[in-house]
Amino acid sequence: MPVVQKNLKPPQLKSESNGVHSTAVTVENLVRAAIKKHGSPVMIIRRSVLEKQYNRFKKSLPDVTPYYAIKANPHPAVIKAFIALGAGFDVASAAEMKLVLKQGASPSKIIFANTIKTGDDIAFAQRRKVRLMTFDNEPELYKLAKHYPGAHVLVRIKVANHGSVVELSLKFGADPEHAFLLLRKAKTLGLVPMGISFHVGSQAKNVENYVQALEISSDIFNEAEENGLPLKIMDIGGGFPIQHFDNEVGINFERMASQIRRQIRTKFDKSVRFIAEPGRFLVGPAGILVTQVIGRTFRNNKNYYYINDGIYADFSGMVFDHSRYEFKTLRRGQKFLSTIAGPTCDSFDTLSVNEEIPELYVGDAVYVKNIGAYSCASAAANFNGFPPAKIILV
Ligand SMILES: *Cc1c(COP(=O)(O)O)cnc(C)c1O
Repeated sequence: MPVVQKNLKPPQLKSESNGVHSTAVTVENLVRAAIKKHGSPVMIIRRSVLEKQYNRFKKSLPDVTPYYAIKANPHPAVIKAFIALGAGFDVASAAEMKLVLKQGASPSKIIFANTIKTGDDIAFAQRRKVRLMTFDNEPELYKLAKHYPGAHVLVRIKVANHGSVVELSLKFGADPEHAFLLLRKAKTLGLVPMGISFHVGSQAKNVENYVQALEISSDIFNEAEENGLPLKIMDIGGGFPIQHFDNEVGINFERMASQIRRQIRTKFDKSVRFIAEPGRFLVGPAGILVTQVIGRTFRNNKNYYYINDGIYADFSGMVFDHSRYEFKTLRRGQKFLSTIAGPTCDSFDTLSVNEEIPELYVGDAVYVKNIGAYSCASAAANFNGFPPAKIILV
């Protein structure tokens, strides 16, 4: 065990106007307590931050119901926390649907938001009365009509993903020019056309993508209305960005939300129901990953530290989510340029080659904040025999 400072009292909490910055000492105490109780690696998910993020969302976009996209972090306790807060859920498969239903989610507050679904999964949705789903192509409509006549459908349109860290428009979305025709086709096939959805890409820092996508969508709403097919639901998707680093600039959810809100109020009728599918925004800031140094050496004129979690497990977001993280330690003192690597027998499992951190010893903690989304969710179960972090909610 590392030598730790004991009895550090948390200071008075500063007013947390921007929501996510607990004081460093509070986090350090959580890190120490988690290692003491659970060992490591351990993923701490803070309920208070889940709630804070949910409330930030609701406060800034009061007319938009968030459907938490569980792929960001499908831990049952996270799902339960969002059920208690009143969220809906975005699922992409029957297995995800089963998971949220099992935690007690209402089928009427679930959207099956994968535009490509298997027939079996569609039939499952019908059995469990999950009626709302997205599509972006005609063959999907035939499938839906066959396996779930009367399903409520949103056409997902392809919109700009400029500046988003994770690009989604390369794989999904109908040409907006075809949106109305697809909705009309849905109707002739016995489905119920309800509206439009889009996704501007994940970690979407450029609010213009939302503003433009809403503009395009409102044109389709008007086109549908004029042609006797009034639409009722506008799904603005996910993508809402978070800060991964303490001093990251250029991310201001509240400012983005105010522009989205203005667009909603000016471009759409009051009767339109708005939903969104935030994933990262709701769960990312709640996660703190705690690891420990399991080995160290000095190579290439640098300190090398091997920690007990890596790219195959809870740092999988470095691959799949194009994410970078801020590594923190509990030690103070002079900092040295260091490399941090994961535990597996693969050089690819190197997490950073240029961290400025104090000298560390075997057993010392290395932790990362804002890592609750797209981390444990995509971790390989046991590559090379190293298990992913135990997840705890505090
Ligand atoms: C991944 C995904 C989301 C969540 O995206 P975030 O960027 O985490 O908010 C929402 N909707 C769909 C369809 C997705 O694929």
